[in-house]
Amino acid sequence: MAPEQSVKNIVLKGIGVSPGVVIGKAYLFDRRDSQISFYKLGKASLVTKEVKRFRDALRASEAQLRDVKSRLSEVAGLEPLHIMDVHIMLLKDRSFVRNVVQRIKEMSVNAEWAVSMTIDKYRELFEKMEDEYLRDRFSDIRYVGQMILRHLAGRRQETISSLGERVIVIASDLSPADTAQMMIDKVLGFATDIGSKTSHTAIVARSIAIPAVVGLEKVTRLVRTNDDIIIDGAAGLVIVNPDPEILHRYEEKKRLYQTAREVSLKYAKFPAVTKDRYKIQIGCNIEFIEEISSAITHGAEGIGLYRTEFIYINREELPTEEDHFINYRRVIGVEGLHWSTIRTFDLGGDKYFSDPKLAKEMNPQMGLRAIRFCLQEVNLFKVQLRAILRASAFGKTRILFPMISGIEEIRAAKRILSEVRDDLRMEGKAVGDDIEIGAMIEVPSAVVIAESLAKEVDFFSIGTNDLIQYVLAIDRINDRVSYLYEPLHPAVLKLIKEVVDVGHRAGIHVAMCGEMAGDPLYAMILLALELDELSMNPLAIPKVKEIIRAATLRDSKKLLKEVMKMSSATEIRELVEKTMREKFPAAFAVNGS
Ligand code: PEP
Ligand code: MG
Repeated sequence: MAPEQSVKNIVLKGIGVSPGVVIGKAYLFDRRDSQISFYKLGKASLVTKEVKRFRDALRASEAQLRDVKSRLSEVAGLEPLHIMDVHIMLLKDRSFVRNVVQRIKEMSVNAEWAVSMTIDKYRELFEKMEDEYLRDRFSDIRYVGQMILRHLAGRRQETISSLGERVIVIASDLSPADTAQMMIDKVLGFATDIGSKTSHTAIVARSIAIPAVVGLEKVTRLVRTNDDIIIDGAAGLVIVNPDPEILHRYEEKKRLYQTAREVSLKYAKFPAVTKDRYKIQIGCNIEFIEEISSAITHGAEGIGLYRTEFIYINREELPTEEDHFINYRRVIGVEGLHWSTIRTFDLGGDKYFSDPKLAKEMNPQMGLRAIRFCLQEVNLFKVQLRAILRASAFGKTRILFPMISGIEEIRAAKRILSEVRDDLRMEGKAVGDDIEIGAMIEVPSAVVIAESLAKEVDFFSIGTNDLIQYVLAIDRINDRVSYLYEPLHPAVLKLIKEVVDVGHRAGIHVAMCGEMAGDPLYAMILLALELDELSMNPLAIPKVKEIIRAATLRDSKKLLKEVMKMSSATEIRELVEKTMREKFPAAFAVNGS
């Protein structure tokens, strides 16, 4: 049953079976089968009739499958067609048909009951199988059984094709035939309560490239038709009625995904080294631990930003230390990642968690958020810090404090961190011994006092998303002023240069983790600025690596020198775009970003 009221900003985790990001309206595909009827057949003549009714349903099911199959082959020469052949074979399977007919005859029961009993028998046999793949094959028998039952009931098959617009299908379960039908109906994506990675439905979804998440358990209970839905097939996430901030992030992810698909993943595995051998580290920004495998396959060397506020989303209760720990443990020390930067939560204002202390503010972006909130709610902060420190025993950990605007904040955060560390040591709990502490540089005042901040930390991470919004006074989620949001504004470039220079003079690592870091257009500028690390969305990595590997530090420096002489953001943009187009014509052709 769908809920009475639509839910807001709920994140559901399931099994991502087909990658890709789609955003659209939900369509609740109701396939619940009604109760199986049971009745005794009195006379022998009725038994004969019942057997015939069963055989007619078998024929009707086969005709339906053949119809879907032939319509599908008109759309594309698809590999999953064999699944429909498997289902047709099951409909003809002698032992299955004999079993049902025998039940009808010997027990003198209706066909629905006989079919359902036979399927139950198969279920018992399959459940005992050790091999997961074979066990999953029961789903094929179940789909075929349900199809026969629907034909016995004389019900028309519900299809999605009658819908006018392209939707995201939400269903309890879908058969491979339903899924294949989606190809014809141009469904955007789907999410189901049950299912597994090796089910044929998942296989079909992958081969027809429809982003899909299965095994969500309660998606049909939470979603209503017309709800806004995001599906992140790679991470196995479904977000229901996302708030504008999340929507914005996923629109960007979707765009990147489309571009990334066009770029060969071959660049993913190479280091980001220029032709004149200048190397820059590549980190990855994640919101959910489910994105880690995507980070690794797209070529991240470490996690440059884990936005841990997403742990708080979708909960009525605050996460416990254990909830936090489970998440950090799955990032820190993961094979293939050399470091993990855990940013303490940047909650506040209108963000994610309904705590009265975070109640409506006129200016949430400049309100009680991030480190300001943590320093007021120290107990809450300590829960997170304990979990990060415990997880740090398992691998290279960097702790990053967001929204630092003054020296007192970083000192206070460090003091609390060391109290927590002492507590853990007293309790005999292991804590990593080479943890690095960093400050997000995203408030203009932090740039101005960078020299003092550098004495307090092991690294800086420049958050251009906020830095640009504050320095240019542009609300980053207000579309009406987005035209003013300009990473190439000379003021922004000067601030970044200042942070890198100050950081390097102090001998600390300087990273950038705002969206600017993942935009290939800025790659030469960022190389020339000599950032040590660029951290970005996983999907952005291959293209940025491709550009860096084709660039030289020498040419990049020349470009930056010209740029730094200019006072107009428009002129800078023109020069950067022209240079990038000339140097990398294929990457920045008409639709290149
Ligand atoms: C930033 O501000 O650039 C940043 C990376 O943090 P967030 O986008 O989470 O505010
Ligand atoms: Mg920020």
